[in-house]
Amino acid sequence: MIGIGILKGMAVTARNFVGSYFEKERLITVQYPEERNPLPENYRNFPFLPYDGDDPHAGLRCVACKICEKECPPQCIYIVKSEDKKPDYMGKPQFYPAVFDIDISVCMSCQICVEVCPFEAIKMDKDFELSRRERFDALLLRKSDLAKSNEYYQRICPTDAAEVDAKLAAAAEAAAKKKAVSAAAATAATSPAR
Ligand code: SF4
Ligand code: SF4
Repeated sequence: MIGIGILKGMAVTARNFVGSYFEKERLITVQYPEERNPLPENYRNFPFLPYDGDDPHAGLRCVACKICEKECPPQCIYIVKSEDKKPDYMGKPQFYPAVFDIDISVCMSCQICVEVCPFEAIKMDKDFELSRRERFDALLLRKSDLAKSNEYYQRICPTDAAEVDAKLAAAAEAAAKKKAVSAAAATAATSPAR
């Protein structure tokens, strides 16, 4: 019969409308911004730079290798490598980005920068309330805007952050063991023979 589909649709709408007064699960809208639906863990928008510890400079994982800058399809990352070095999370002296900008008016949230980074130094953020009145400069995020603590990453992406933490801890442990073995070998080599 012509129109049966419309009647069925209206019945579903009516059932949900009346039911929403009695069952909260039937309410499919929320009173944003006072109410918010939780974001799925794999939701992503723009990248950020995680740092370890309390100091965004000392703990920044990025070593300014520029792989992400080279691989970013719309070329919206701009990095200037430092002249000096600072210790990384394993205590090894490394360069760091003196400048790290991302133009989020151009970024297409593809996550390629995250996938190519060998140092777990760039991750995708979930912050979507980024509208600005200005069209250009306000959407250019500087290093100070991009650096966010590892605790923040653990909060927004608990599963991925736990995997990264385990991987970095294992790498640090392996490096410490290797250093201890080399130190023991060097001591043995310099000890006088009996
Ligand atoms: S998410 Fe994609 S477009 Fe955005 S900075 Fe990373 S590589 Fe570039
Ligand atoms: S974020 Fe990663 S890939 Fe990009 S410059 Fe830093 S260390 Fe290299």
